[in-house]
Amino acid sequence: QWSLTDFDVGKFIGEGKFGKVYLGREKQSGYVVALKVIYKTKLEKYRFHGHLRREIEIQHGLDHPNVLRLFAWFHDADRVVLVLEYAARGELYKLLRSVGHFSERTAATYVASLAGALAYCHKKQVIHRDIKPENLLLDIEGRLKIADFGWAVRSNAKRHTLCGTIDYLAPEMVEKKAHDYAVDNWTLGILCYEFLYGSPPFEAAEQQDTLMR
Ligand code: ADP
Ligand code: MG
Ligand code: MG
Repeated sequence: QWSLTDFDVGKFIGEGKFGKVYLGREKQSGYVVALKVIYKTKLEKYRFHGHLRREIEIQHGLDHPNVLRLFAWFHDADRVVLVLEYAARGELYKLLRSVGHFSERTAATYVASLAGALAYCHKKQVIHRDIKPENLLLDIEGRLKIADFGWAVRSNAKRHTLCGTIDYLAPEMVEKKAHDYAVDNWTLGILCYEFLYGSPPFEAAEQQDTLMR
C-alpha cells in the first residue's frame, strides 16, 4: 500500500476542476510520475465520489501506448492521490495554441494515435466522453496520451448524462438523447478539423450559437 511518504513531491504541473497535479519521484526506484491530488472536502462539496471511483477503476484497467497509465492510487485523511504516468510535454492544447495549427502530416499522426486509443477503449466497453485538447497529453517523445477519465463510463448500453465540453459535444448529447461510444468518435472529427485549422469548427462567442451550429 502506497502513501505520500513514498514520494518526493516536486513542482506543480497542472490544475483541473477537482485535482492539482504535481511531479513526483518514487523514493526507492527514482521512477518519475505525476501525482494527481484530490481533496476530500472538494469531493464532498461536489458529490464527486462516484466519478472518482469510476475514473480510478476504468483507467487502472487500461493498458495502451496512447492511454495515460494509472499505476496506483491511495488516500489519507484529507486527500485521494492518483499515481499517473508522467506526460513530460504537457497538454496538446498548449502546443496547438503556440503553433496555430499542425501540418497535415503531424495532424495525421495525432489522429491515428487518438483513433487507435479510442478503438482500444471502446473494445473494452469504455467511453471517455471528455476528449478535448486539454485532456490529450504528450509524453517526453511527443506521443499522444488520452488522460482524465473523470467522465468515462464502462458501458455497452445507451447513456443519458450530458457531459463534455461544448465545442466537442456530439449532436445526440446536445439534443439530450441517449448516446454511446460514438460520441468519442465525433470528437475525433472535431479535433481533426481543429488540428488542421487551429480552432474547432462550431466555435462561437456564445455557447448557444455553438450548440445551434
Ligand atoms: P481534471 O480531472 O481536474 O480536469 P486532469 O487529470 O485533466 O484533471 O489534470 C489537469 C491538468 O494537469 C491536465 O490538463 C494537464 O495539464 C495536467 N496533467 C494531468 N495529468 C498529467 C500527467 N500525467 N502528466 C503531465 N501533466 C498532467
Ligand atoms: Mg481535465
Ligand atoms: Mg477530470
